[in-house]
Amino acid sequence: MKIIMLGAPGAGKGTQAKQIAAKYEIPHISTGDIFRANIKNGTELGKKAKEYMDQGMLVPDELTCDLVMDRIAQDDCERGFVLDGFPRTIPQAEALTNALTKIGQSMDYAIDVDVPDENIVNRMSGRRACLNCGATYHIVFNPTKAEGVCDACGNETVLRDDDKPETVQKRLSVYHDQTQPLIDYYKEQNILKSVDGTKPMDEVFSDIVAILGE
Ligand code: ADP
Ligand code: AMP
Repeated sequence: MKIIMLGAPGAGKGTQAKQIAAKYEIPHISTGDIFRANIKNGTELGKKAKEYMDQGMLVPDELTCDLVMDRIAQDDCERGFVLDGFPRTIPQAEALTNALTKIGQSMDYAIDVDVPDENIVNRMSGRRACLNCGATYHIVFNPTKAEGVCDACGNETVLRDDDKPETVQKRLSVYHDQTQPLIDYYKEQNILKSVDGTKPMDEVFSDIVAILGE
């Protein structure tokens, strides 16, 4: 099963993608997590990506597309994968379509997690991320057991630099300009499904399972 998660920053793509990956036993591929791991490890890619991420801008397609194409060509993706945060532009979506077409494949579902802008700023200012293992929490909706400590690995959880309110506004406007058009792109490919992302996390997940099947 090959799935794309669509939705504004903070809509809950990562939260749902992790659960989808666990239930259907497919890899969760988050370009944001890949860039953050590169930043943490001080790689050249990380240095370049950070300049854009800190400003709420998209990392250029030429730094992003090959990375994803290499990842989905790995053996563990044979049974499918869930993409979280990719594609984010029409050229990225076209690169993905073309790469899959070449090997006689196509995506199965693009799931749009729909959350209005007014809910997003709250979501992002309350999000806490573990930069060690990538787990995400929310101070109200999904708190850690001990404040500021990751349940999964025991490291510190932090407010991401790009989750500060001024950067969130920029990210939202980038989303509307460059990423929202993908909803129509996948509608035309007949694989678009929408879920109401304002519901509690477990209800959103049930709605997704109803689409994907048990
Ligand atoms: P995205 O991957 O789309 O940027 P996340 O999955 O990281 O978004 O979710 C953003 C924040 O909102 C996180 O703090 C997460 O815990 C919280 N969150 C996710 N889904 C819901 C939901 N359905 N209701 C309330 N909070 C949610
Ligand atoms: P995310 O973790 O998905 O919220 O992504 C965090 C940041 O990483 C984004 O605001 C972008 O700067 C960058 N990023 C992640 N995925 C992509 C992508 N597919 N294309 C361009 N930039 C991306």
